[in-house]
Amino acid sequence: MKILQKTNKKLRLKSDPVLGEITSDVRKLAIDLKKALAASGNGVGIAAIQIGVPVRMIAVAVDSIKKPTIMINPHIVEFSSEQEVGEEGCLSVAGEFGLVSRAKTVMVEFKTLSGVVMLKVYEGFTARCIQHEVDHLDGILFIDKVVDGFASRSVKPSPQYIYGSKIIIRS
Ligand SMILES: [Zn+2]
Repeated sequence: MKILQKTNKKLRLKSDPVLGEITSDVRKLAIDLKKALAASGNGVGIAAIQIGVPVRMIAVAVDSIKKPTIMINPHIVEFSSEQEVGEEGCLSVAGEFGLVSRAKTVMVEFKTLSGVVMLKVYEGFTARCIQHEVDHLDGILFIDKVVDGFASRSVKPSPQYIYGSKIIIRS
């Protein structure tokens, strides 16, 4: 499965919501997303548009890298006023990393693959990851938001500790 790269105009599309029941097409897309994330090696999140499907679905490694959480129609209901600057990369922006300021905590409403609507609060790295992925659904890339104004400086990514294993942030 090919992951679209930053010059691809499709990445700038606003994705459409998943309407109605969870169909087999929706479930298939979720499987494709998980596969693409697993194949990336070090990715911690992916949005459907990154594999060319302009639909509001993301996969985020919330509890475990091996079992990412699928969020359908994720909507950030509340952003904390407290912000945090952290380093980000993106599977669609190979080799570039930059510092982005994000809300430290977010409250997110989303639908699960079982069709249940959830309202959950996430903080820190997971909150950052979700904000990054939801941006993809609106055609926004992290390079649009880099705080020092230039993303292509290719800083060496600092490995982050999550879930007990050392990985590099790429979402
Ligand atoms: Zn990304």
